[in-house]
Amino acid sequence: MPEQSPLDLPEGDPFGPHNLPYGVFSTADEPERRRIGVRIGGHVLDAGAAARSLGSPHTTLLDHSSLNPLLAAGRTTWSEVRRALTAWVTDPGHRSVVEPLLHPLSEVRLHLPYEVADYVDFYASEHHATNVGQIFRPDGAALTPNWKHLPIGYHGRSGTIVVSGTEVVRPSGQRKTPAETAPVFGPSVKLDIEAEVGFLVGTPSALGQPVGLNEFRDHVFGLFLLNDWSARDIQAWEYVPLGPFLGKSFATSVSAWVTPLEALEAARVAPPARDFDLLPYLDDSTAAQPDGFDLRISVEINGQEVSTPPFATMYWTAAQQLAHMTVNGASLRTGDVYGSGTVSGPEVGQRGSLLELTWNGQDAIELTDGKRTFLEDGDEVTLTAWAPGPDGTRVGLGEVRGKITPANA
Ligand code: MN
Repeated sequence: MPEQSPLDLPEGDPFGPHNLPYGVFSTADEPERRRIGVRIGGHVLDAGAAARSLGSPHTTLLDHSSLNPLLAAGRTTWSEVRRALTAWVTDPGHRSVVEPLLHPLSEVRLHLPYEVADYVDFYASEHHATNVGQIFRPDGAALTPNWKHLPIGYHGRSGTIVVSGTEVVRPSGQRKTPAETAPVFGPSVKLDIEAEVGFLVGTPSALGQPVGLNEFRDHVFGLFLLNDWSARDIQAWEYVPLGPFLGKSFATSVSAWVTPLEALEAARVAPPARDFDLLPYLDDSTAAQPDGFDLRISVEINGQEVSTPPFATMYWTAAQQLAHMTVNGASLRTGDVYGSGTVSGPEVGQRGSLLELTWNGQDAIELTDGKRTFLEDGDEVTLTAWAPGPDGTRVGLGEVRGKITPANA
């Protein structure tokens, strides 16, 4: 029996050659040298070394410590690079070159693979927005009058976007319940998650020039899982009238792996039907192909699944969000990240936050290690997901993981 190659993957591996997400890694013997890696099965291909060895015209883009030059190179180049990578990991003629450039995932360190430019977070799940509206504004309409007409969002803090595996320090801040007469200060007692999908902008746009719905794929390189950590007690007291601020800016975790949109063609789905006409710049009803994605997310706390949010139920697509955030002429930069908003489906077990799963702490959920309303110190949250791939395969999304550590004194 010849020795099994790491490229001979078991049938149905969600990280097979139909996927090929991008990341940045280093090895223990050269911890300071960050390199672009492409995940194949349980291994990481040193993409720059492969490009050099195989004489690729894209060596300068791949032999780099960050994805940014590749992101900026644009859609035609993204396709060429993906075709080359596919050949490198599938063509038996390349094996003798490629196999020595594979590193087991367990032996590498993964880094934030791009320099984040601006960060925007949206609020695109009708189920989430309805639940939050009922919890935070029980006496008013659950959805605000604008909600179905424009994708609501806010500008977040790009400098505190951290890669999966980074520990999250419990934030401290002001909170005040309606029953209290004055605010108090201390560690958040309502630390929560938001299961989301992040989108990564590659190609920039010119100031003053809106990006239309049909230009989504020219500008957005890929997507990844994102956890928008949220301190609900800080948020509830501070958010009126300007929206989220310190309740969310302490940390946002993203996966170490970016899945190119090209790997998700089989996962395209139409967003839920709308019963009125959107303004033309948001109207996708006559689009040739839909811009929703059928991503099946799983939320685990300490290894126990607590929710399975379905991304296909999102009211606004990432293409509409991009069109909306540039319609005023705001420009895009390479490395811009925008979050979808918490993904919550119609069922209780599909809610993407503890705020909704426990109805603001009223109904604790049962874990094997005890009840939870919000996160406790030491809790580790992991988001995973998969999408339908070509020919009945699955496309795995790289996980995003984070553990809560006690507040600083
Ligand atoms: Mn969010």
